[in-house]
Amino acid sequence: MAKSGQGSEGFVTEITPRSEDFSRWYTDVIRRAELADYSPVKGCMVIRPYGYAIWELIQQGLDRRIKATGHVNAYFPLFIPKSLLTREADHVEGFAPQVAWVTKGGDEDLEEPLVVRPTSEAIIGTMYAKWIQSWRDLPVLINQWANIVRWEKVTRLFLRTTEFLWQEGHTAHETEAEAQEETLKILALYKEFCENELAVPVLEGVKSESEKFAGAHRTYSIEALMGDGRALQAGTSHNLGQNFAKAFEIKFQARDKSLQYIWGTSWGMTTRLIGALVMTHGDDSGLIFPPRVAPHQVVIVPIPRGNWQETVLPHARAIADDLRAQGVRVMLDDRDAYTPGWKFAEWEMRGVPVRLEIGPKDIEKSQVMLARRDTREKFSAAREGLAARITALLDEIQRALFERARAFRDDHTTSVTTWEEFTQVLEGRPGFVVAPWCGSRECEAQVKAETQATIRNLPIEESAGGQCVHCGKPGVALARFAKAY
Ligand SMILES: [Zn+2]
Repeated sequence: MAKSGQGSEGFVTEITPRSEDFSRWYTDVIRRAELADYSPVKGCMVIRPYGYAIWELIQQGLDRRIKATGHVNAYFPLFIPKSLLTREADHVEGFAPQVAWVTKGGDEDLEEPLVVRPTSEAIIGTMYAKWIQSWRDLPVLINQWANIVRWEKVTRLFLRTTEFLWQEGHTAHETEAEAQEETLKILALYKEFCENELAVPVLEGVKSESEKFAGAHRTYSIEALMGDGRALQAGTSHNLGQNFAKAFEIKFQARDKSLQYIWGTSWGMTTRLIGALVMTHGDDSGLIFPPRVAPHQVVIVPIPRGNWQETVLPHARAIADDLRAQGVRVMLDDRDAYTPGWKFAEWEMRGVPVRLEIGPKDIEKSQVMLARRDTREKFSAAREGLAARITALLDEIQRALFERARAFRDDHTTSVTTWEEFTQVLEGRPGFVVAPWCGSRECEAQVKAETQATIRNLPIEESAGGQCVHCGKPGVALARFAKAY
């Protein structure tokens, strides 16, 4: 348990207010709520049980969707021989600065150095070249749950760490059209998952050339807006074209007997989603978790009066059993060593969607008290039909959190046409700035150098119009700019 102090309003005072310093609030709340902690390994974090419980719920929800769309899971080695990683020129160039090397096994130098996987296109591509012979072997639709290592200079819990967890899908197709369909299918799956499970609204779009994945033909992303107005890339889906197929000789005999290269895709979402949850929904009192990924959806706090363990506790236990029978994740906090007030603040800080209080007076009236974490409303509810009432309330909270986040996102999305407006918006009211862009890499780099804002993505549909907000040349798309994590 966190040793949190409590202020006069019952707030945990050791957390820097979100409104005062968003970045410190983020780190404070993650450590106080015991989601994660720093480790003795520089740049690596420990995901603590409460944080890992969220990851497991994310995994379950995502894995179910990945399998429902015809994919299967497999596992590939953590190490990749140097010669494989260097086969695709853009790929190795993109990852070289972040690669961790293994050069020794015990006392002996390795004949060929190995990299710790920064992503698995190279090793999976090598295996696909063996496994795929004919058009009859296609498509190959494999996903892997794994850890990844990318040597990061500046790290932040969940958002950027040297080691992180993710899923990576790697598919091989007969035609370019099928690969493109797969890329967009996964992008839509990711969006639906983020919005329905995490209650995080996202903008789907295509990355500019300079922001795409190293070695990809085209990269798509979903972008969320955090509570401080910075964007967060929540997932990516890459159409790899035939780049990796050519580098790794992934060929098949086509229906017309000719030898062809496969068309590939890859896609991933990571533990940074937990950071997105924290920064989208949290407030000055701490975390707010959407019910679908909350480790505890309801916390029951019995009010200790008299011999409460004989009078109140049995009722609390019966309610917990009822709720669990309905599939609700319940924490019954019957610890004697803490006061109810301490428990209220503690579970509020830890983001539990619903608090249920029950004391002798409630038992007399056949009721309980409920408190919503998102709105902080407190009200009584009849004991009769309580489980149904609570499952409906959890759905309502899930919806309300999404609506609130979407309203915030919309409120912090500004369309501009002039450079003056562009810089003013970024200084005064950060968020997404939508503006015409000429398509030039240099122009994009200048915008970044002058404002720190990058193109998060471009609408998938045609969106040309107007003149580039920075250089005045004809615009090719209405780009979504933002400062990003
Ligand atoms: Zn321009």
